[in-house]
Amino acid sequence: MLYVNDIFYSIQGESSFAGYPCKFVRLAGCNLKCGYCDTKESLDINNSSLLSIGEIISALHSIGGGNNIRLIEITGGEPLLQEEVFDLFNELIKLNYFVLLETNGTISLKKVHKKVVKIIDVKCPSSGFSKEFNYENLKYIGVSDEVKFVIGTNEDYYFAKDFLKINKIKTGKLIFSAVEGSMSSKELAEKILKDGLNVRLGIQLHKILRLK
Ligand code: SF4
Repeated sequence: MLYVNDIFYSIQGESSFAGYPCKFVRLAGCNLKCGYCDTKESLDINNSSLLSIGEIISALHSIGGGNNIRLIEITGGEPLLQEEVFDLFNELIKLNYFVLLETNGTISLKKVHKKVVKIIDVKCPSSGFSKEFNYENLKYIGVSDEVKFVIGTNEDYYFAKDFLKINKIKTGKLIFSAVEGSMSSKELAEKILKDGLNVRLGIQLHKILRLK
């Protein structure tokens, strides 16, 4: 059984999959409390329903988009806090879904199914949790995975830049996203251009479209 905050259908707003219709499973609970968290309602497991994997899969079948939509994102909160999530990945892969995982990088990725695309949100200093990253996870990041930095301050920007310089990361899918209200996407874009960084500017498409 898994604590599920929400199951919904929307446009994928972030990552290299931005723009595609996607079904989301938002699991409840998180081990961090980032100041800028925009899914605070999912942090408390009291705001959730306890569902079996079968019930989650039925809900995914019955929401919009029908069977045509094969892209599913497991997000949170922090999905990897719940042990049964690994079985959920396995079941979804068995059913030929294309599965994305959004995780904060603090919990081991070792048991995540190889076919799941991991989107790892490396916490920068303004989150208050930049020391929590599990560096052993670097060895589980493959070429199809994505590494994201949410940047709200200059300190965050230099932290992200140094992180990429110091650590060997196998994927070239690197995303810098601005924290809404702290740094504009334009300012972040200008920094990326000035420094000639090979990273993708992340824009939260679902927010621009005012979708969930
Ligand atoms: S890790 Fe993600 S879900 Fe958890 S508090 Fe931070 S932003 Fe929110």
